[in-house]
Amino acid sequence: MVLVYSDNKNVFFELLHGAHDLAKHFKTPIVAATIQNTISADDLISHGADTVITITTDKTQFKVEEYATYLKQIIEKHKTQTILIGSTKNGKELASRLAALLNTGCIIDATNITITNNTLQANRIAYSGNAITTMQFTQPPYVLTIPPKYYTALKPDTSRKGEKTTFKPQEIMIPSKITEVKTLKSEGVNVEDAKIIVSCGRGFKNKADIKLIQDLADVLKGRTIGCSRPIAADLKWLSEDHWIGLSGHKVKPKLYIAVGISGQIQHIAGMRDSDIIVAVNKDPEALIFNSADYGIVGDLYEVLPKLTNAIKEKMG
Ligand SMILES: Cc1cc2nc3c(=O)[nH]c(=O)nc-3n(C[C@H](O)[C@H](O)[C@H](O)COP(=O)(O)OP(=O)(O)OC[C@H]3O[C@@H](n4cnc5c(N)ncnc54)[C@H](O)[C@@H]3O)c2cc1C
Repeated sequence: MVLVYSDNKNVFFELLHGAHDLAKHFKTPIVAATIQNTISADDLISHGADTVITITTDKTQFKVEEYATYLKQIIEKHKTQTILIGSTKNGKELASRLAALLNTGCIIDATNITITNNTLQANRIAYSGNAITTMQFTQPPYVLTIPPKYYTALKPDTSRKGEKTTFKPQEIMIPSKITEVKTLKSEGVNVEDAKIIVSCGRGFKNKADIKLIQDLADVLKGRTIGCSRPIAADLKWLSEDHWIGLSGHKVKPKLYIAVGISGQIQHIAGMRDSDIIVAVNKDPEALIFNSADYGIVGDLYEVLPKLTNAIKEKMG
């Protein structure tokens, strides 16, 4: 069977669609594993799962050592061949630990999964996007994590029928305990689902100047603001919700406007899948222009008010 798990509902639905071709090739069902009904079995079935296994445990707090053993027990019980896990922060940690427990390989952020020489092969980005490696498993089980938005979720089909079962795992003693959980400071921004993102970088001289980005985002009715790492991590002008790139959020909007961002590979890694990329930078040699569909060479302090006004007029 192809076992699918994610701690993120949308990614879970995407993976259920992504599992379809593999399940067809191996002539096996798609089985969704969920922990403590965090995602409803009906939702998982309507998005493509043939069977839903609900793991019943009182351990509701994610702890990778425990969750990995739960999945391992299911995999061994059902002789599972392929395991697809959503590439969230927890998902990546879970997949690698699970693969180690199963004494098999693990491909993190796998794309372009194919069956070659009767085994699974996938690509993954290496060196911050400067190279693509092709990796092949030498033996099953195959453990892979899939980046968010790599597959598109199917429209839910509520007429689909599927099997619902529960599984009570054997709890093992883990020599560590969670003593405190601190919620990350959040402004409730969801860049990953935004259709239009206007992003700012170190080209901005002061925190107050981000108002220029806000004005542009408002007239575009996108209202989502992104930023490069220094703005969130070093200057702390915006919360980490806005941070886009290799170590931030990966986004795929219809329109991405990068203002005062140089276009280092670590930033590009997070926004390169945007449909249309527009860059504003005063340096005509800035790397960002290599990734942009449209470029404006100019001082953002002159360009942004004009751009905002022009769009305002155009949009009535
Ligand atoms: C392991 C690792 C992970 C990383 N992860 C990320 C990540 O996830 N996301 C990320 O963004 N970075 C990441 N970085 C950092 C990355 O390498 C760059 O340092 C960062 O992206 C640069 O941010 P910036 O483009 O805003 O600033 P800068 O590189 O300083 O660029 C500022 C740009 O603004 C332009 N500019 C200046 N003034 C004006 C003006 N008045 N008008 C118009 N343009 C102007 C300049 O020409 C310049 O191109 C990572 C680095 C490492 C090592």
